[in-house]
Amino acid sequence: MTFRVLTAELAHETNTFSRRLTGAQAFKDRYVLFENAAVTARSDANTELAGFVDAGRAHGWEIEHVLSASAGPSGKVERAAFEWLCDPIVAAVGRGRFDGILLGLHGAMVLDFCEDGDGEILRRIRASLSAEIPIAITLDPHANVSQQMSSLADIVVSFRTYPHIDMRESGARAGGILHRTMAGEVKPRTIRVSRAMLEETNGGRTDVGPMIPRLAKAEEYERHADVFAVSINAGFASTDVADVGPTVLVTGQGDFDQHIAFAETLADDIWERRYETLNDYLTVEAAAAIGAGFDPRSGPLVIADYADNPGAGGYGDSTALLGALLEAGVSNACFGPMVDGEAAQTLHGTEVGEHIQLALGGKTDAEFGGGPLTLEGELVSISDGHFVGDGPILGGLSRSYGPSAVLRVDGIEILVVTIAQQMLDLQQFKSFGIEPEGKRVIALKSMQHFRAAFEPISGQVIVCDSGALCTQHYERLPYRNVPRPIFPLDQDAC
Ligand SMILES: [Zn+2]
Repeated sequence: MTFRVLTAELAHETNTFSRRLTGAQAFKDRYVLFENAAVTARSDANTELAGFVDAGRAHGWEIEHVLSASAGPSGKVERAAFEWLCDPIVAAVGRGRFDGILLGLHGAMVLDFCEDGDGEILRRIRASLSAEIPIAITLDPHANVSQQMSSLADIVVSFRTYPHIDMRESGARAGGILHRTMAGEVKPRTIRVSRAMLEETNGGRTDVGPMIPRLAKAEEYERHADVFAVSINAGFASTDVADVGPTVLVTGQGDFDQHIAFAETLADDIWERRYETLNDYLTVEAAAAIGAGFDPRSGPLVIADYADNPGAGGYGDSTALLGALLEAGVSNACFGPMVDGEAAQTLHGTEVGEHIQLALGGKTDAEFGGGPLTLEGELVSISDGHFVGDGPILGGLSRSYGPSAVLRVDGIEILVVTIAQQMLDLQQFKSFGIEPEGKRVIALKSMQHFRAAFEPISGQVIVCDSGALCTQHYERLPYRNVPRPIFPLDQDAC
């Protein structure tokens, strides 16, 4: 029997503290691809859709792919943008006579009219689908999984890596479980347990630390015949919603008391090890001082600005680290990205090779990461900002920074861009003529994803907190909707 499966990808990680609401243009800036255009662009890369297509090929499904859309992490998604992208999925579900639904969601989407954006997608789909048709979803482990999400999706599979490098594999796993469900072999549902924390203490990083033994336990539990997937979600702290924080999910059947008891043991471990911070969050001055004296013979020093990570909704225009590097006289360095569309526009009106004075960065909210720097530098190059990744996360995928330029100030090549993108692929420098391997210092904006491509070329990695929007100093953010007490806001009460 040939199963008919509807697939779609609709992903946003919402930083509810961001002043930049997410409208249709923000999705277009990253990607909005309908039907075959999405399959062509994404099924030969490390994406959830590629995994869905792999599963479909293995099991002989007939797939109807509605769309793939994602915007860079930013503020709440506006209703019009949400409905523009969600309606075609719901309409196709209503028309389709599908045997199963398979979705790639992020899991931390917040709408301007609803806290639980992913739950709202599932609610609308479920409302136009008969109850016995299974829904399977993949999630980014930075999902804030609500009770609504876990009860509306029969099958949930979260990525198991951070840096995320297993999107395709996760898509294929979810597809495999969906297939067994459609075939009537199994009848899964998903349970959820949570802890009163903004996020798992290390954001769920999986290269080192306590997530490694947790994931090993999850895989061991999946060997039980009635267990199909265990998902450990770190949560996403920059989302001021009731269902914020880490969750453990078990997709299974049979003895749910046992599944819940198992999930509780992992959640307990997340809670008990809440003080085991792996990063040393340096001040920008301390990071710059290390950079100034760094010997790059075994590779450059990578300084990651954790707090201004566009991949978590940071504006990407914090100037604190760049200011400190210039102050410390760091030379033979590169810095990127500095998200400042106004400056990029000015540079596009300048001759390459010309010296120019301009105000750079810090224009969105100087309270978080510093105000504009007045700099004088030489314009090295300009570009439309397009690049194709070649690393483990973005390999083969096309992205754009929008109008961009490289400005050299003293010994630092600064990548000035229009569209915010986290720095996680070497091509994000190299495509613009910056050669990171030959530098003494690579300063970049990313929390953890950069490690996949930049750690192998680095001599040393350090992390700093510039005080930008994704600062570890959560007390600086106006949380109103998270349940209290919660760790670490109410550390003394926890
Ligand atoms: Zn993530």
